[in-house]
Amino acid sequence: MEQRQTGLHNDDLAARLIDHLQRLNLPPVRLMEVCGTHTMAIARYALRDLMPETITLTSGPGCPVCVTATRDIDTFIAASRIPNAIITTFGDLIRVPGSDSSLQKEIAAGRDVRVVYSPLDALDLARKNPGREVIFLGVGFETTTPTVAAAVLTARREKIENFSIISSHKVMMPALSALLSDPQIRIDGLICPGHVSVVIGADAYAGLVENHRTPCVVTGFEPLDILQGITLLAHQLADRTPKIEIAYQRAVSRHGNAKARAVIDEVFTPASAAWRGIGEIAASGLAVRDAFKHYDAVQRFKIDTPPAREPKGCRCGEVLKGIMPPAACKLFGRGCTPGHPVGPCMVSSEGACAAFFKYDPALNTRTEP
Ligand code: SF4
Repeated sequence: MEQRQTGLHNDDLAARLIDHLQRLNLPPVRLMEVCGTHTMAIARYALRDLMPETITLTSGPGCPVCVTATRDIDTFIAASRIPNAIITTFGDLIRVPGSDSSLQKEIAAGRDVRVVYSPLDALDLARKNPGREVIFLGVGFETTTPTVAAAVLTARREKIENFSIISSHKVMMPALSALLSDPQIRIDGLICPGHVSVVIGADAYAGLVENHRTPCVVTGFEPLDILQGITLLAHQLADRTPKIEIAYQRAVSRHGNAKARAVIDEVFTPASAAWRGIGEIAASGLAVRDAFKHYDAVQRFKIDTPPAREPKGCRCGEVLKGIMPPAACKLFGRGCTPGHPVGPCMVSSEGACAAFFKYDPALNTRTEP
């Protein structure tokens, strides 16, 4: 098991930021790190342990594999059973359990499921295998969607007919708005995702600040970036001045990447989407536009999946809403480990359960069964 880092690359500056946070003397506050990459970095550098007692860091819904609903996983599994299909996907999805199977089990049963690093790799497979149907499983937020849209546009331009996708893409803002509107969930500030914000721009959070009076700071992924983001949030809370700030100016602007958003808009249209454990959220997903329906595998192969059965005892929904720490799940480290995951939060390299298991020395002493 990997242990946590002991150094923060600039210990003196980190110590000063932490000391500064202590001196602000805030009342108890809960800050949500939206992005799974933040969750991993926070666990890896033990930043939770360095916080003043009054600051609680809680994980959010920003791990794309984790929020993919069981029904979507079942759809991916059904796609793998289409005769002559090659399924292409990012690696983490393979081990996520569906209602009765997983892509890993389907590989063992002889289905052709391959890990790729980009949808353009999947497109290349389609070029090289004209007699096969190559289906790419599209999972992710605004960060990855532009490359999937670009693959579809390229397929149409080059008349590659044996390529299609299943769009389980999601957009972040409706989900954050739903969480902030839920009276059972208390979030005092958002550590906003750096990667997604490169595309959507920091101004996209204006509605959250305006409607929910929630401080938002777009933050990078180095430990000092995260400490800086937390410090800015703490100041906003102390001064009662919620606003949007960018603590990741080397990558994120106010307006984001308009070209990337235009590519997404050309291929996809907003649609309702199911988020694991959170439920159906209007306009939080992306459906393939009718103009590109040839590239929509669900329509083209008429994939229909029955209602899903959720993994028994898994509390990923509460973890993803930030209302339960992973170790409070009875299965954590017992029935559910990275080697034998029950829910996706233990599978994904950005999952909160996986992060706690990997880096928390008090928890990862539990052994794999
Ligand atoms: Fe689900 Fe496993 Fe996390 Fe429990 S520990 S919430 S079963 S992924």
